[in-house]
Amino acid sequence: MNALKLPPGIVTGNALRDLYAYCKSAQCALPAVNVIGSHTANAALAAAKQAKSPIIIQYSHGGAQFNAGKSLDNAQHQASIAGAIAGAHHVRTLALAYGVPVILHTDHCAKKLLPWVDGVIAAGEAHFKQTGAPLFSSHMLDLSEEPLAQNLEISKQYLTRMAKIDMTLEIELGVTGGEEDGVDNAGVDNSKLYTQPEDVLAAYDALHPVGSFIVAASFGNTHGVYAPGNVKLTPKILANSQTRVKADRKTDDKPVTFVFHGGSGSSPDEIREAVSYGVVKMNIDTDTQWAFLHPIKTYMDEKSDYLKSQLGNPEGPEKPNKKHIDPRGWMYLGEKGMTARLVQAFQDLGATGKFEI
Ligand SMILES: [Zn+2]
Repeated sequence: MNALKLPPGIVTGNALRDLYAYCKSAQCALPAVNVIGSHTANAALAAAKQAKSPIIIQYSHGGAQFNAGKSLDNAQHQASIAGAIAGAHHVRTLALAYGVPVILHTDHCAKKLLPWVDGVIAAGEAHFKQTGAPLFSSHMLDLSEEPLAQNLEISKQYLTRMAKIDMTLEIELGVTGGEEDGVDNAGVDNSKLYTQPEDVLAAYDALHPVGSFIVAASFGNTHGVYAPGNVKLTPKILANSQTRVKADRKTDDKPVTFVFHGGSGSSPDEIREAVSYGVVKMNIDTDTQWAFLHPIKTYMDEKSDYLKSQLGNPEGPEKPNKKHIDPRGWMYLGEKGMTARLVQAFQDLGATGKFEI
């Protein structure tokens, strides 16, 4: 199979649908990285450039708020809306500078957070009117806590609106375990951690006629990294859902496009198996948070005697510590750590060598 050639910039509409279709047939997936500001966004862009692959960059409600600055009032989600818009413009501008294709996305949006996505879609509609392209490639609605019929009804309304501006919708069926960014499902009933094929079929019937959508299904995946053994990862659930939709709706192979939440801490074998069943997007957050933190911690430990005051270190009581204090030194160590972890993720997901950018 020939490598897929993609121009730099934000991938939207039919180009995104084609990209995901290519991923399914080439058996690869892209890392979807949670970013919270320019440092993490740039680390992600650098990883895409090194891996010569498109990348998915996403802001959660909390990540977008952090991008705007935590001191801002967020009672009406205004900081999360502004932070997502500002982040999108940052990534849009720099994707071209780095020469990489980027899928711009927002992460989990539960029912009570819908006003956040409403605000970001409104900005997307204005951007579309001005430029012919939406601001973001896609948004996620996570209505998995609602009854299935309501989840699909609301998702359908949103996809109807989003399809008009060439946007893709991600939905969630079943519940991702664990805790992340204020979404705490650590105590959820075990059966809900496994999506049923009939639920996937219902989602396909509701959304396929409306527009492009991708499905975060639960197969024992959890947010965060835990000691193994609590929940069993069962990617076969994805294969069973594909078989069900294909048989009942007479489609081609792998009619559904899947998302793997809680990718951190998963083994390369588990990842490969999930990708082989039609996963095109794997969310990674905890592992990249660790990869950002760890080199900075090492630096702080090693340079401890140079960071106690602005003047004075083991080389002399009046020696300046300016260059050790400058965040451009130690923050960049975090960026490089995160980039390296993402380059490994591209490998694990089979994306390396599959694209020409
Ligand atoms: Zn998630």
